[in-house]
Amino acid sequence: MDEGRTVLGNVTFRYRVVRSARRSRLALAVTRPGEVTIRCPERLDLAIDALLERHHDWILSAHRRALAREHGRPALEPGGWIWILGKAHPIDEGLPPGAWAEGLSAFDLRQRLTNWYRPQALRYFQSRLDYWSRQLNIDFAGLRLSDATSRWGYCRTDGWIGLSWRLYQAPDWVVDYVIVHELTHRRFPHHRPSFWHAVSTVCPQFSAAKDWLRDMGPVLIW
Ligand SMILES: [Zn+2]
Repeated sequence: MDEGRTVLGNVTFRYRVVRSARRSRLALAVTRPGEVTIRCPERLDLAIDALLERHHDWILSAHRRALAREHGRPALEPGGWIWILGKAHPIDEGLPPGAWAEGLSAFDLRQRLTNWYRPQALRYFQSRLDYWSRQLNIDFAGLRLSDATSRWGYCRTDGWIGLSWRLYQAPDWVVDYVIVHELTHRRFPHHRPSFWHAVSTVCPQFSAAKDWLRDMGPVLIW
């Protein structure tokens, strides 16, 4: 059996090839997040890297569906888990510390988690905004944390940038996309092609990040 690793988008995939004499056609499946199974006829000559690259978009979207299936909405309960920068963390492992206590209602747990997320999100977003502001040579008046569930960020004409703390649950490369998007609005206050061109030159993953937010965004809202 052939096995290996490959990177598609920002995701490292493990793949394995399962050959079978009974099989007449090749089939790809994302069995679990980050795992691709290639089933094919016994003697088929495979150029695996080229095959995976050709199905790049399909594999990434199957991966996101598998992630949503596997993790989906955070489980806010004993033994449950939450998202931090795109990774699932068990609540009970002390992350966030003290969030869980016996007899805490689901409402109170949500409140505690929110209180835990907000300052971390603020610190993280501030450092990424400062970084991108220097990189792009674009200034901004300041950062406001929002609780928004319908838009991840905004940029006001007076230079204030707002980001929803909920975005701190998304992977770092998705957060970077939203920050670059909002900062770029300081130069291009619209979504015309010139805006998207500017975003894409500094943020090549912008389209994957938009897809990520479309597919996975709903699970960040609780
Ligand atoms: Zn925009």
